[in-house]
Amino acid sequence: MSDATLADYRRLIADRPAKLTGPEAQYTPASQNSTDYHCDQCRHFFISKVAGYNVCEVVRLQPEKSIESKAKCKFWTRTGERFPLLNNHA
Ligand code: SF4
Repeated sequence: MSDATLADYRRLIADRPAKLTGPEAQYTPASQNSTDYHCDQCRHFFISKVAGYNVCEVVRLQPEKSIESKAKCKFWTRTGERFPLLNNHA
């Protein structure tokens, strides 16, 4: 297998993964969130120190902005197996 090229890199970066919107995931900003289920305790939450931006693997807000560390959504999970905020979580 040959080394990846700059064209490979650009194709990869241009193709952003599809994500849910805030309303689809029932994203709730920190000021309305009285539970202990916070984004910064969820396995899908990442801090981009370079961009100065919090990102989520599941949700992309529109217009795009940082995910609040103390927000939540219905797909909050630590394990990827248990989803305590889903109504009928499996
Ligand atoms: S709670 Fe939802 S919005 Fe927050 S990090 Fe987890 S999946 Fe993303």
